Amino acid sequence: MDYERIFREAVTAVRAEGRYRVFCDIERQVGTFPRALRHTPDGPRPVVIWCSNDYLGMGTHPMVVEAGREAVRCHGTGAGGTRNISGSNHLHVALERELAGLHRKEAALVFTSGYVANEAALSTLARLLPDGVVFSDEKNHASMIAGIRNGGAPKRIFRHNDVEHLEQMLAETAPERPKLIAFEGVYSMDGSFGRVGEIMDLAERYGAMTYLDEVHAVGMYGDQGGGIAQMMGQEHRVTVIQGTLGKAFGALGGYIAGSGALIDAIRSYASGFIFTTSLPPAVTGAALASVRYLKTSDAERIRHQERAASVRGRLAAAGIPVMDNPSHIVPVFVGDPVRCKQASDLLLDRHGIYIQPINYPTVPKGTERLRITPSPLHDDALVDHLVEALSDVWAVLELKRAA
Ligand SMILES: *Cc1c(COP(=O)(O)O)cnc(C)c1O
Repeated sequence: MDYERIFREAVTAVRAEGRYRVFCDIERQVGTFPRALRHTPDGPRPVVIWCSNDYLGMGTHPMVVEAGREAVRCHGTGAGGTRNISGSNHLHVALERELAGLHRKEAALVFTSGYVANEAALSTLARLLPDGVVFSDEKNHASMIAGIRNGGAPKRIFRHNDVEHLEQMLAETAPERPKLIAFEGVYSMDGSFGRVGEIMDLAERYGAMTYLDEVHAVGMYGDQGGGIAQMMGQEHRVTVIQGTLGKAFGALGGYIAGSGALIDAIRSYASGFIFTTSLPPAVTGAALASVRYLKTSDAERIRHQERAASVRGRLAAAGIPVMDNPSHIVPVFVGDPVRCKQASDLLLDRHGIYIQPINYPTVPKGTERLRITPSPLHDDALVDHLVEALSDVWAVLELKRAA
């Protein structure tokens, strides 16, 4: 049996579709973000990162870095076990308390990553609800889809943000069956907001519980950085809020926040929580410092929105086809996987700008795009540079300009 050939052919198929992924070997440095080094076969080159999910630059914030360093100095490198066997330390307890407070819920539970949080929590919820049905937005993240699938309960997929479609599905389901609606606060590839208030109205009318992924909103929206539900004044109505510590908080890990009973049940049943070593002190300490800081500091959130608006406006004025949305994410439409990759390569090679191409299966075929994420640390000079570079690439590749 030629096993190697099987793997090579699998990759050939990916290449043929123009969606073979190449890692960008970057070296971030404290004090220079969003500027960094990119390692190439010809040696290191300077690069400006325009596609990081470290949205606020907290991953290199001196106070967060220092908290991580202090935690590793005092408590060592590894957690030493699973949460149930010797791996719960005081930083986990403090972090979970902080996260529960952030979302104004009774309790919170931290996982290895946001992906694991979604997979573990949704699969466990789906299994715990007797004869339950899960309702899922069609644009939900792969980790939610995995959790729902692994939960084994029947699922109904509603069109993105289509509350009429969701209501129709809820109405078709027997009133006595437990229902779980899973959706997101900010959909990361389009930048659209979830229709939180309307979905909560439906959940109340049809007796459903709700699960809201706020991964692309925590730290960035709401008066304490609690996310879109907090910003919209809907937080108290959402059953479970899920978030990450790996994006705007600049560390690593995922979590859910909800009622004491729900968190206790997930903690007791979720395999993805129980059978894995807990987060190490450096990560937990850094995350705790970042969450605490962003609870009280609005400066980063205000500057972040201003920067995103500025980039959006400048690109639109230059005729670059920005996909409109209300969030901090600035997607630029290309509509072809090969050209999208070419655009990204040109930006990198000619202009020292790193923007990863977003192709299928992350977005539907024919909607390939460059996804730009301005941060509070991208200054006016960097924005000028970005606009010039994109204009050049649009000219070289003869890409379609906006009207
Ligand atoms: C990135 C992402 C996750 C996973 O979070 P990680 O902490 O990176 O594992 C979950 N949901 C959405 C919507 C995401 O974009």
